[in-house]
Amino acid sequence: MGSSPWRLGLTGGIGSGKTTVSRFFSEYGAAVFDADFVARSVTGPGGAAISMIRQQLGDQAIAADGSMNRTAVRDIVFSDSAMRLRLEQIIHPLVWTESLQQEKSAARSGFPCILFDIPLLAESGVWRTRLDRILVVDCPERTQVERVVRRSGLSEEQVIRIVQSQAPRARRLSIADIVIRNDQISLANLAGQVRHIGAFFGL
Ligand code: ATP
Repeated sequence: MGSSPWRLGLTGGIGSGKTTVSRFFSEYGAAVFDADFVARSVTGPGGAAISMIRQQLGDQAIAADGSMNRTAVRDIVFSDSAMRLRLEQIIHPLVWTESLQQEKSAARSGFPCILFDIPLLAESGVWRTRLDRILVVDCPERTQVERVVRRSGLSEEQVIRIVQSQAPRARRLSIADIVIRNDQISLANLAGQVRHIGAFFGL
């Protein structure tokens, strides 16, 4: 019987490099829980959240293929914070339950470290109670904007708006135990930093 795995939270603003960092952690032997992936799957066709979303937000919230209609829901919750809260109250418990299951299974499989990739970690207090340490991937906002514009085809203004809707950089840094500054460094350098941090967490 091994000891329980380290639970390491990973967060960062849009385009900061979270996905890249979590891929390196996975390569070095961590189990990775991806909150966005789970949120997308419970709202995908026939997902566990769909009937509740239909009930709470109406038929217009569900697309013909049985998935959540993201564009319609974005419009609904954009102007209605009560609806946003209802949506969160449907999706978050499902993501939380899945995370408990994945944590249990990773512990049983003997992983030394579970990385919890939680984009909105700084916005939500509840996850922090479950984590041993928090790793923040940080970069200046102009780097975030450049990367996301290049990758997504969104306009600079659209990306700036998303960046501004997220927790400010200082707030994320204030919850960090470890910071990776992912700006003007090569991917090889980033991988090296992940290896170094991973070694502390048994990888
Ligand atoms: P999102 O929040 O939008 O999912 P993210 O934080 O997961 O973004 P990534 O997808 O890891 O960010 O990185 C955004 C883009 O920037 C990717 O195309 C990635 O390859 C690139 N990138 C990240 N870090 C570096 C780096 N150090 N050098 C070069 N490219 C990088």
